[in-house]
Amino acid sequence: MSNLELNTILANIRQKEKIGVGDIIIGQIVVVKDNMVVVEIVNAGNRVLSPADMGVLFVKNIDTRFVESTSECFAKGDVIKAKISEIGPYEYKMVTNYPELGVIRTICKQCKNAVIGYSPTGEVKCDDCGNMIRKKFAKTGD
Ligand SMILES: [Zn+2]
Repeated sequence: MSNLELNTILANIRQKEKIGVGDIIIGQIVVVKDNMVVVEIVNAGNRVLSPADMGVLFVKNIDTRFVESTSECFAKGDVIKAKISEIGPYEYKMVTNYPELGVIRTICKQCKNAVIGYSPTGEVKCDDCGNMIRKKFAKTGD
């Protein structure tokens, strides 16, 4: 094997392992502030994660509509699907301002049960207590 071939193979391996701009990740919201949330990345397809890959999502990048506060859309513990938009020096920057991105699992505030769902309307009904939950839900399972 020539060095050129070896370098090509190594470059391909590195590309597959790293999280890159445009990648879709699954993450859990660990901190909620008015203007941003901090997300712990738990899954990035078949890419290898570092022990604590973290991301930030600013309020202006949550939805295509205007969102005043992150708490309208997300709560601590919510599991979201998001897209990597930028790789910063200390963390990934991510967005959910696409229909297929947003919350995919949340906890019902009323009965504390886990609610899993995608919602074309932005509302999901809790199966256990009937509570209507409004968030920035992902619209489809794609
Ligand atoms: Zn409920």
